[in-house]
Amino acid sequence: MIPAPFDYEVAASVDEAVSLLGSRGDAKPLAGGHSLLPLLRLRVTRPSLLVDIGRIEELSYVRDAGESIAIGALTRHHDVATAPLIQEHNPLVSEAARLIGDPQVRHRGTIGGSLAHGDPASDLPAVLLALDGEVDVVGSDGKRTIPAADFFRGVFETAAGPTEIVTEVRVPKLTGAHGWSFLKFRRRAQDWATVGVAVVVKRRNGGAESAAISLVNMGATPLRARAAEEAVVTGDDPGAVAGDGTDPPSDTNGSADYRRHLAGVLVRRAVEEAMR
Ligand code: FAD
Repeated sequence: MIPAPFDYEVAASVDEAVSLLGSRGDAKPLAGGHSLLPLLRLRVTRPSLLVDIGRIEELSYVRDAGESIAIGALTRHHDVATAPLIQEHNPLVSEAARLIGDPQVRHRGTIGGSLAHGDPASDLPAVLLALDGEVDVVGSDGKRTIPAADFFRGVFETAAGPTEIVTEVRVPKLTGAHGWSFLKFRRRAQDWATVGVAVVVKRRNGGAESAAISLVNMGATPLRARAAEEAVVTGDDPGAVAGDGTDPPSDTNGSADYRRHLAGVLVRRAVEEAMR
């Protein structure tokens, strides 16, 4: 379908983008366009103004920020997947970005767009949640930092306001004591995950001192699998409780029950991989 008519402005800076977004109640930022344009074409959303933030060069970077890595919101998935700093200090993020869609999607889609879109089937939101990462947003009142645990509110709904721009994402560096895994099950190579799992464990004496496990597509937002995290530490089977507290959708890729079964299998495998 053809999108409903809209005006189009290109923002040269974050300040200009914020001001343009504030000029129209239903304006929307456009980054890589790989989630927004399909929604426009389906007329699920009909903003009267698109503010193109895709050329704000100051928002595309990967930087060493001491104990964490700072990633500019406009960094493309391909650049996240291949940045040496991320590969060295947080390969979980590189691997998840490497598995997104196909090469075209990875060369256009951005990390900020993926988080701001708030799709529970997206991979990077669950990874950020497992890592207890942070998101910076800038609006007319200045900058706010939002922890990942507070950022995702519902399907296509986040804590970023309609006139705020996501500017930076920060993830911790993982030290040698950490193991990680990212697994997702999908029917075709370029599909979204039917279910995905991100795991980070801190290993000690052959066991786990702590574990963080989050799930893709098992509810309205990415979810932490708290019961499974506890099971990893106590040495019990995390797969048996991976579906606790989840509310997965039923669709053409699988029923809710099938997704719960998948979550158990994937969590078990991902924990084994992370412990290795
Ligand atoms: P856009 O489409 O430009 O924007 C998405 C939404 O976020 C819009 O509402 C927009 O207003 C808002 N927005 C964008 N940037 C900002 C910002 N900086 N601040 C505030 N709001 C902002 N994703 C996966 O995780 N896994 C997959 O396997 C996967 N497969 C895909 C396969 C296909 C065929 C396609 C088309 C997409 C796929 N995606 C997948 C989604 C892809 O990763 C998107 O690129 C991403 O979710 C959105 O990023 P974008 O830069 O394209 O954002």
